[in-house]
Amino acid sequence: MRYHLATYGCQMNEYDSAMIAQMLARFGAVSVSSPENADVIIVNTCSVREKAEETAIARIFQFKPVKQANPDLKIIIVGCMAKNRGEELLKKIKFVDFIVGPDQYRKIPELLELPKRKRLAFLDFDLEENYVGESAKILTPFSTHITIQRGCNKRCSYCIVPYVRGPEKYRLSSDILREVNEAAAQGVSEIMLLGQTVNAYRDGNETFASLLNRVSEIEGIKRIRFTSPHPRHYTQELLEVLTQNPKVCHHAHIPLQSGSNAILKKMRRQHDMETYYGIIDYLRSADPLYHISTDIICGFVGESEKDFEETLEAVERVQFDTAFMFVYSPRRGTESFKETEILTEDEKKERHTRLTEIQNAITLKRNKLMLGRTETLLVERLSSRDSSEMMGKTDNFKKVIFKPEGNVKPGDYVKCKIDDIRGWTLRGTLETNE
Ligand code: SF4
Repeated sequence: MRYHLATYGCQMNEYDSAMIAQMLARFGAVSVSSPENADVIIVNTCSVREKAEETAIARIFQFKPVKQANPDLKIIIVGCMAKNRGEELLKKIKFVDFIVGPDQYRKIPELLELPKRKRLAFLDFDLEENYVGESAKILTPFSTHITIQRGCNKRCSYCIVPYVRGPEKYRLSSDILREVNEAAAQGVSEIMLLGQTVNAYRDGNETFASLLNRVSEIEGIKRIRFTSPHPRHYTQELLEVLTQNPKVCHHAHIPLQSGSNAILKKMRRQHDMETYYGIIDYLRSADPLYHISTDIICGFVGESEKDFEETLEAVERVQFDTAFMFVYSPRRGTESFKETEILTEDEKKERHTRLTEIQNAITLKRNKLMLGRTETLLVERLSSRDSSEMMGKTDNFKKVIFKPEGNVKPGDYVKCKIDDIRGWTLRGTLETNE
């Protein structure tokens, strides 16, 4: 049995695809890069924006001639769009065989044995399904992602995730630590822990803070990252671990969404700017170079010019290293979709442009603070611009390009003096291999 697996969306979808690949491998299936050579095509889809769903549907239609040429081929749609659109997809896309929601992936190997032309959807949430015992295939020989929490309880008014991923579930810490141990035994030194609100993690034995400590005790693990935390779940215990455990990297992606308390309330974000600034001040007073990235929505329903200016003030005050900035677009199926917008598309875009200009200048300023420092890089790959150079990342998630010497290879830790910046890109001179 040969399968082709196409993945869209976030790192959690990447993790789930890698887990499905492991389930299929146990079943004896092998991965093929070309859909034409596959017996089954699996498309793991995203639903976060309508555009993401349209992209996935367009991609699925590209498989229609492959199915016509090979009627025995099975096509399975999984992921958030599978859950969101459900059986409608079976009606709309006649050549698709199965629709499988995020809590039903263990069914996939069995589906391959079902008789031809049986078309089914498996969409139920399963509060008990935590994929205990499963491990995802390691992403690179030195770094991997591990999902520790699935779903979300927050119900932000613009977000579809709780409807497609269901309520929060936490994997058992024993199962997570088993997966980290297995990865470390295979040479992985960097772990990224994943969850929609990853720092809400708890399993009765460990909190998120204590789990970070437990992961850091595993031999071979040198760097721990995580995404995405929610501002509401930065406890004092967590702040202390983040600033005191040397293996937990000084890098956090903390969604801001808006700098206005009135808009945060409308978004049902469950935090205010005082809480947000408290976290930032704690992290940056421990390390002024602590990398903080964020997500910001421009032109949310009801956002006045004053609200937007509060966002600009927050951006100036925090000094984000990077930010993903989006123009608000109402998402069908969410609370805020029902509200009437007061801003035109042009007005929202104009705010986005103003915000982007300010943030771009701050990003450059933050990168320049790295000049003159000697940093340890985890070498990731050859530079995409010049294959005689390599790219590595600092603990605080800055990319640095350098000329390797000797047999430096991906997965190595090297020390580099950061001595130049070209455009946005930091450049360094190799000092030593660790
Ligand atoms: S915290 Fe809010 S934005 Fe994040 S996944 Fe949950 S509902 Fe969506």
